[in-house]
Amino acid sequence: MPIGPFDRLHDVDQKLDRFNDWKGMALANRDAEPFGFGRLTSESRRPGQGMKGRFGPRPTWLILAEPPNAPLAHERAFYQTFFYGRETPSTYAWVMAQYGAPPVPVLGGPPATVHLTQEQAQLQLPSRIPVIDEQALRDIGSYPIGWGGLDADRDGVVKGTELLTVIVDSYGLGNATTQSLTVDSTALGYPLQIRGKYSVMGHQVALQTACHEVFHQWGAIDMYGADQSFHGGLTTMAATITQTPDDRSMVELDAWHRMQFGLTRPYVYDLATQVSGTASISAVAQNRYDSAVLFWDSRRGPGDYLLVELRQATPGTLDSDCASGFVVWQCKVDANGDPMGGLTPNGTYAVNAIGPGGVGDGAWASGSSLRDISWVDGTSIGVEVTLDSPNGSTGTVEWSPRALQGSKFDRLREPL
Ligand SMILES: [Zn+2]
Repeated sequence: MPIGPFDRLHDVDQKLDRFNDWKGMALANRDAEPFGFGRLTSESRRPGQGMKGRFGPRPTWLILAEPPNAPLAHERAFYQTFFYGRETPSTYAWVMAQYGAPPVPVLGGPPATVHLTQEQAQLQLPSRIPVIDEQALRDIGSYPIGWGGLDADRDGVVKGTELLTVIVDSYGLGNATTQSLTVDSTALGYPLQIRGKYSVMGHQVALQTACHEVFHQWGAIDMYGADQSFHGGLTTMAATITQTPDDRSMVELDAWHRMQFGLTRPYVYDLATQVSGTASISAVAQNRYDSAVLFWDSRRGPGDYLLVELRQATPGTLDSDCASGFVVWQCKVDANGDPMGGLTPNGTYAVNAIGPGGVGDGAWASGSSLRDISWVDGTSIGVEVTLDSPNGSTGTVEWSPRALQGSKFDRLREPL
């Protein structure tokens, strides 16, 4: 099934130009930049930050590891298409559609194949990785790019920003992980050290999971939720591992990631000064910039904000299997703009979808009125938000001072 048509342009600077032209100057504000709009699109844009991805295509080294008596479920050509194919379903097509920065088979030729011994096949992660890597390295000299071509900045180290390594292994059907590791390849007689990120995945991995791991290499973080509720159907960066072999469902990134990657440019409102208003947004599947509203309060500072987006499950798009409705993302970030971790015992980062039943409860239906939305610390945002989308593909977000219904009456009824 082909993807598209896509409104997004592939180059970020072109995107910014396009945005400034789009719908005239009415939308051409830079209000979203303090909240990280576009910052994961390049290392140079805001250097020195903890979370660094690097936008752009890069050589991808696809390694197929086959233990004895546990052959991969598919032929080699299948994996080549799964990662490099130009049409969906493929990791290339998905990442290309998102960023124009796909995994590129610059190493040339078919994927490397490594046959593990019985003993090696018993190894767990991460010690399994260098064993596979070292065997695959024997082929690397024969690739057209050569060692020199891998070390783009010529510092003697092949880093994760210079080489995307994907290992497919029958180790776990659909499991996947991305780990940072240094392989001491100079000790093996090779000219360069490999200090990279390795995305390791099972041989029947879901497309969404493969993309999740590749997005990590571009700087995306896990969005498991403060209570480990996983935000199912709301973001590629939730838990995507499924028991369905070769699952091909697709869910777009959450509004927070899309803003950081420069894919969504939210309308920004400061609730300290704009206590009421209305904004129109497009569903994420429409693939336009205007797919979120950002609320913050200048009296609290930019560390707390809400992103409100509209999702509509739409066949033939990257959001074909999302939860439909309005999603409210409650965000708490540090001085660098990175989501804060460790606020709850089991949670990952403080970016949570707040649904009708609380944290992690999914999407709000059209017609919902949200009276009790709070910042991460539980303080009310002070306004009531009404969400409306009769057609599902465009919607309005309306807000007004929260009615203090019943409060005087309640006080009169308090016992003396
Ligand atoms: Zn992850």
